[in-house]
Amino acid sequence: MKKCALVTGGSRGIGRAVCIRLAGMGYHVIVNYVSNDAEAQKTLDLIREAGSDGELLKFDVSDNAAAVSAIEGWQDANPDTYIEVLVNNAGIRKDNLMLWMEQEDWTKVIGTSLNAFYNVTRPVLKPMLVRKYGRIINMASLSGLKGLPGQCNYSAAKGGLIAATKALAQEVGRKGVTVNAVAPGFVKTDMVEGLDEAELKKTIPMNRFGEPEEVAALVGFLASKEASYITGECISINGGLYS
Ligand code: NAP
Repeated sequence: MKKCALVTGGSRGIGRAVCIRLAGMGYHVIVNYVSNDAEAQKTLDLIREAGSDGELLKFDVSDNAAAVSAIEGWQDANPDTYIEVLVNNAGIRKDNLMLWMEQEDWTKVIGTSLNAFYNVTRPVLKPMLVRKYGRIINMASLSGLKGLPGQCNYSAAKGGLIAATKALAQEVGRKGVTVNAVAPGFVKTDMVEGLDEAELKKTIPMNRFGEPEEVAALVGFLASKEASYITGECISINGGLYS
């Protein structure tokens, strides 16, 4: 049976590094993204360079109907296998102080991180339970643990994701499905473009931003069979910024 993994937001940044890591572990990687066809194709090329194969599955994770239809369509086309690793990684930032935050920036950020957890996890979950094996890893953030000013929307989305991780872990542990979250600090991707790295790194004990590959290594471990007794956890990866 072909071993399959789905990574949301796999076209760039941390998601891309996770795709390559899972490819190296022998997974057929389904790369989800929303708009950037060229970067998604580049991820697929890198998956092939890593010695595995994969496919693109473009849909908006914040759109329930689109997510359900894409995932059910994939399952119908692949009746002999199932998605045994799900990495809920897609996410966006729309920072502003609460006083000036538009409703749209609140709902979009919650939609892409928190509603997406529901939209994508639900259709993927049943086959995992039936086969009694699965790994779900949710990309949270330091912001969801600590709360960061200017990020009420993002902190709420990521905090909610951490709580949902803990709840779902208790629902499905008996069925061999683990559910964990990863909480990065500052990681060098398009998302942190425009931040003052030279200034911010002074606040980080390791005196640097993280690399997407460092986060991917942790996700790869949580996705592996070796991580079989870890569930309901949120693991920080932030160079000592906060723990
Ligand atoms: P990034 O470089 O901006 O990449 C974001 C990815 O998410 C892209 O692949 C993008 O697809 C996809 N995406 C955005 N909205 C989507 C939607 N509605 N449906 C499907 N895919 C969508 O971000 P990143 O830094 O790698 O962040 C990845 C995750 O880590 C996010 O959840 C983020 O909140 C979290 N995180 C990042 C940092 C950091 O410092 N970078 C720190 C803590 C947590 P397109 O290419 O099609 O736009």
